[in-house]
This record gives sequence, C-alpha cells and structure tokens, in this order.
Amino acid sequence: MSATETFRARFGADPAGVWSAPGRVNLIGEHTDYTGGLVLPFAIAARAQAAIGPNGSGIFRVTSAQRGNDVISVAAQDIRPGAPAAKGWPAYPLGVVWALADRGIDVPPLDIALDSAVPAGAGLSSSAAVECAVALAISDQLGSGFDRPTLARIAQHAENDFVGVPCGLMDQMASAASTEGHALFFDIGAGTTEHIPFDTAAAGLRMLVIDTRAHHSLADGEYAKRRADCEFAAEQLGVELLSQVPFAGLDEALGQLNGPRAAVLRRRVRHVITENERVRETVALLRAERIAAVGPLLSASHASLRDDYEVSCAELDLAAETAEQAGALGARMVGGGFGGSVIALTSSDRAGAVESSVMGAFSRAGYPRPVVRSVTPAAGARHDA
Ligand code: ADP
Ligand code: MG
Repeated sequence: MSATETFRARFGADPAGVWSAPGRVNLIGEHTDYTGGLVLPFAIAARAQAAIGPNGSGIFRVTSAQRGNDVISVAAQDIRPGAPAAKGWPAYPLGVVWALADRGIDVPPLDIALDSAVPAGAGLSSSAAVECAVALAISDQLGSGFDRPTLARIAQHAENDFVGVPCGLMDQMASAASTEGHALFFDIGAGTTEHIPFDTAAAGLRMLVIDTRAHHSLADGEYAKRRADCEFAAEQLGVELLSQVPFAGLDEALGQLNGPRAAVLRRRVRHVITENERVRETVALLRAERIAAVGPLLSASHASLRDDYEVSCAELDLAAETAEQAGALGARMVGGGFGGSVIALTSSDRAGAVESSVMGAFSRAGYPRPVVRSVTPAAGARHDA
C-alpha cells in the first residue's frame, strides 16, 4: 500500500498531497552528538510517506499502514504533552503538529495517513522518518517556508518534548537535509551541515547494516552514565562541551583529569576526541573520492567504542569481527550500544560472503539470526505527489 491508498481507504477521500522522508545510517561519529561533536550520517532509500489533507472539522485523524486499520481521532485542544494523545505511535505525527503550533504555526485540523518502509527499532531511525515526513508535509501544505534544518529542529522538539524521548538532532537532520549520493557532515556544536560525496555504488562498494537483534537492558542506564561522564570531564577541563577539546590538545587534556575515576574518564574522553578526528579524516577521504580507505576508520571507531567507551557487547563484536574476517573493508557498531546494529563496508563482490559468514557465526554462537540489509545514500525529505 502507498500512503495515498491508505489515505483513501481510511478517510474516503483523496489527500491534498504526499511527502516522504528517509531513515538514516550514521557512517561515523558515535557517542559524539551530546558532546557537541561531529557526525556523518546518510539517508537511506527506505522512506516513510505521509499523505495529508485538511478535513474541515475540529479533529485531527491519524492512521498508519503499519499499525492495523485503526483511525485515531484527537480534538485539536487535546494535542498537548502528557495528554492521552501523546501515547504510542500517534504521538509521533501529533507531536509534530504540536511542535509546529509551538512555533506559532496555526495548523488546521488534518487527516494524516502514514506508510513507511523503514523498519521500526532496527537502528535506522523510523521515528525521524515519520516526524520529518509529517513536518515537511504540513509546512509545505501551509506554505510556512521552514528550511530543512529548522524542520529537523521542529521534528526533534516533537520527539523530545511531546513523545518524551531525549534524542539528539542527528536523526532528524539526516532525514530532513540529506541529498542523494552524499553523506551529511553535521558539526553539532557549530550547528553547520555540509554535503559530502558518498556514492558507494559508483565506487563498486556496498554498505551492509547487520541488525543483531540483541537488546541488552543496560543500554539506557549506561547511556545516561556516559553522558554524565562526558559532562563531568568537560567541567574538569573547563570547556562547555567536551568536543571543544581539540584533537591536538588531547594528551594535555588527559593529563588534567584527576580524582578517583580519572582512568575511566580518560578513556571516555579519548573515545570522543579521537572519534571526532576520525569523522574529519573520513570527510577528507570522501572528498578525495577514496571511499574504500574509510574502512579502517570504521574498525578503529569500533575498537574505541568497545575498549575506551565500553558500550559494545558480544553480539556486536562478533558481527564486526566476522565481517572483517570475511573480507569487509571495515565494520563498526552503530547507535547507543549494548545491542542494535553493525555497519560493514565491503566491495560489492564480497557482500554475499560477508553476509553468509555473519549468519554462520551467529548460528554457531547460538544467537538469533541477524537481519542484514544493504543501504545506499539516498535523498532527504521531499514532496512526492
Ligand atoms: P527507531 O530507531 O526505528 O527510530 P524508535 O523507538 O525511535 O526506533 O521509533 C520507533 C517508533 O516510531 C515506533 O514505535 C512507532 O511509535 C513510530 N513509528 C515508526 N514507524 C512507524 C509507522 N510506519 N507507523 C506508525 N508509527 C511508526
Ligand atoms: Mg528513533
């Protein structure tokens, strides 16, 4: 089904238009976002579509092709954080309505039909895809004229303050502002973005996303601890955000950390500052059209996340190691850690061998069968029809 067909089936009318926004993968720059650091995500071909149309009533109605046949109806005045409408999946599209209203946009009651090919919870940011599709749809429909970075901020505001998920801005920025065949170099501290050529197919390469389907319960608690470690280290080093420590000043900064947890803090700081440097090196290689040379940087990122930041787990390590042994140019865990996905950069002709080796290793280890997807750098949010 498309969003248009879903809209017609559930609301009995044609939509005013259809907009879409993609999922994303972060090539490199992990656990740097909340320190004001550097990230390098790219949008993928899988997209969420939003078909919308004004309904002339006082009620917003939302439906999703992936969430049964239900139509959720909510009165305009009930769209506020903490209200029953802010629960479950409808909170994502309705949160965007709320965030736009919070920006002073008078959003008339709408019907919204979603249809997404971005799998939820696979580390591909299905949430940002939904938010950005809805944000662009309403903004375009009303002629609000928000630029892509502003739409990304509106989508993040919805997720942070309506849905209640304390995410950074990377996912929404990648989904809203990416362009086909490029990665998006996002300097979070500076608030700047730049499109960097990243055409894997033209280079004879493939990017695989290996969803280990592992989810260890420590993830949330450890994430909060890492953020706290970074804030504490930044305070000791006299910077507002940890990523303000320059790579050239790393050794000096490590020497300034003291107290009973100094050894741990040094590892955390070393990860963040070297990871920012790996993002810069990756950008330089991509600019020089040397995509294959990025492989070792991915592997170095994984080692740093595993050893210094201590957010990996047995399944992630097995996927990354096995991919490399089977001929991948590099591989690393992505996302918060303690489960989730690994990305592997491989030549097109080794992709099949990498996938089957990982499957075999997981089967022998007695782990659930991973889901392996091939992704290509695709366009950001757009008007479809
Ligand atoms: P992800 O890593 O995929 O972004 P999240 O937990 O952040 O995982 O977001 C997933 C949530 O986004 C889902 O639980 C659901 O509430 C919402 N969502 C994603 N895709 C859809 C869809 N097709 N229809 C309705 N809601 C969706
Ligand atoms: Mg998400």
